[in-house]
Amino acid sequence: MECDQCGSRNVTRRDVEGHLLYECNLCGNLQGNDDAVARVEELRAGRERGLDDRVIPLVSALESSGVFRLQSASAGDPRRNEPPYVLLALTKSDTAWLERLLRSLEIANRETRLRWLVELTLQRGITCLLRPRFYKSPSDLTPEDLDAAQKDLLVLGRSFRRDLGLSWWGVSHTP
Ligand SMILES: [Zn+2]
Repeated sequence: MECDQCGSRNVTRRDVEGHLLYECNLCGNLQGNDDAVARVEELRAGRERGLDDRVIPLVSALESSGVFRLQSASAGDPRRNEPPYVLLALTKSDTAWLERLLRSLEIANRETRLRWLVELTLQRGITCLLRPRFYKSPSDLTPEDLDAAQKDLLVLGRSFRRDLGLSWWGVSHTP
C-alpha cells in the first residue's frame, strides 16, 4: 500500500473514528472507503470549528446544500435542561429552499424519536432554528428526553445527507 498523497509506503491499517482505514504515518492522509474517509474528514473539520461530534453530521449535511450557513449549534446540555438545536441562516432569497428543508425534515421525522420542527425568524435575512418539539416546559425535561433528542441528531444527519444527494434538492454534487 502506497500513500496516494506523498507516495510513502509507511501506511498503517487502523481504526479511525470507528472506520477501518489506511493512514499514512508520514503525512496523515487517509485512504480506504471513500464515504468513510469523507465522514472522518467531516468530523475532524467540525471539531476544529468547536462543534460537538453529535451535531457535526447534521451541520455538514445542511451546509453541503450551499444554501444554509451555520450560525450556531449545540448537542444540548442535560445539566442545564438544554435540548440540542441547529441555527442556520438562509443565504439565498429563494424560499423554495425552505420548502426543500421542510420536506426533508418531514421525511427525517419518520425515523426520529421526537418530532423536529423549524422555526423561522427574520434577522436581516431568514434564519431557521431546527429543534425538537417537547410537549412540556423545559424545566420538566428528563435525561431520557434529552438523550432521545441527542440520538436524533445522528438520524437527522443521515437523512439529510441522503436527501441532499437526490435531484429534488437541486444541489449539484462534485464526486
Ligand atoms: Zn502520505
